[in-house]
Amino acid sequence: MHTSGTLYVVATPIGNLGDITQRAIEVLKSVDLVAAEDTRHSGQLLARLGIPARFVALHEHNEQQVAQRLVADMQAGKRIALICDAGTPAISDPGTLLVAAAHAAGIAVVPLPGANAAVSALSAAGVNAPHWLFYGFLPNKAVARSKALAALVHLPYALVFYEAPHRIVECVAALAASLGGTRRITLARELTKLFESIHSLPLAEAVAWLEADLNRQKGEFVLIVEGAPEVVVDEDDARLRDTLAVLLEELPLKQAAHLAARLTGLKKNVAYELALQMRDADAEKT
Ligand code: SAM
Repeated sequence: MHTSGTLYVVATPIGNLGDITQRAIEVLKSVDLVAAEDTRHSGQLLARLGIPARFVALHEHNEQQVAQRLVADMQAGKRIALICDAGTPAISDPGTLLVAAAHAAGIAVVPLPGANAAVSALSAAGVNAPHWLFYGFLPNKAVARSKALAALVHLPYALVFYEAPHRIVECVAALAASLGGTRRITLARELTKLFESIHSLPLAEAVAWLEADLNRQKGEFVLIVEGAPEVVVDEDDARLRDTLAVLLEELPLKQAAHLAARLTGLKKNVAYELALQMRDADAEKT
C-alpha cells in the first residue's frame, strides 16, 4: 500500500536571493519533484542555491492536465514542491488549480511562507490603512480597466495592484482618471533589488513624476492607492449633497466638487468622492 504524498507550496525570493527561507531550502532539497512555472528560470535559481532538483513545468497553459498527473504522483506517495518564478505561488501566478486538485484528492497541502511583492510593499509604504484589498493586475485594455476601477472607486480600503514596466504610465494615468487625483499612490519598484525605490505622491502628480525620469519607469511595480475617503455624515453630508446637487447640474464634476468644497468648507477629496457617488447613482437611474 502507498502512503499519500504531500504538496509543498514554496515561496521563493522576489529579487534578493538571501530572502529564501531555511525551510524552503530543506524542502526543495528533499522533494521528489519541483513543479515550476519556468523550469529554466527556476533551474538557475535552485542551482545558485546549490539545490539539485527534478523539475516539471506547470504554467497557465498546461496547469489543468499537469495537475492531474501530479495528483496521481502524490497519491502514489511522491512529495512535490510548487514554486513560481518569484514570490508566493498562486498569488497572481499559477498554482491554484494544482492546490485545489490536491485538496480534492485528500492530499496534504503545506504552505511555506516567504517573499511576496504586495506584502513587502505594504510593509514599507507607510500607508495608514487597517484594511487593504489585493487586486493584482488590472486588465490591459482601457475599457475593461475603467470598468474594473469603477467597481473599486468607492471602497474605503487601500488598493494594491501589480504592474509591469511597459504599462506603468498608462496604468497610473488610468488610476488617476478613475480614482481621482487627490488620493495618494505609493509606487514600490524593484523591491529587494539594487534599484529598489518606494515613492508616494498624489495620484494627480504621478504620471508627470514617472515621465520626469525614464529610470522611474523601469522594473517591477507594486502600486498602492489610498482608499476612498470616508464619506461625511449628518449635517455636513446634507449640506454638501445639496450644494453638489445644484452645482452638478451646471458644471463638470471636478469643478462642481471643487466649488462645493469651498462653499461648505469641507475637504476637496470628500466633495469629489460624494460627487462621483451622486453621478454614479444618477447614471444608474437613467
Ligand atoms: N507571486 C508573486 C508574489 O508573490 O508577489 C507575484 C507574481 S506576478 C506574476 C509579478 C508581479 O509582481 C510583477 O509584475 C510586479 O507587479 C510584482 N513584483 C514581483 N516582484 C517585484 C519586485 N521585486 N518589486 C516590485 N514588484 C514586484
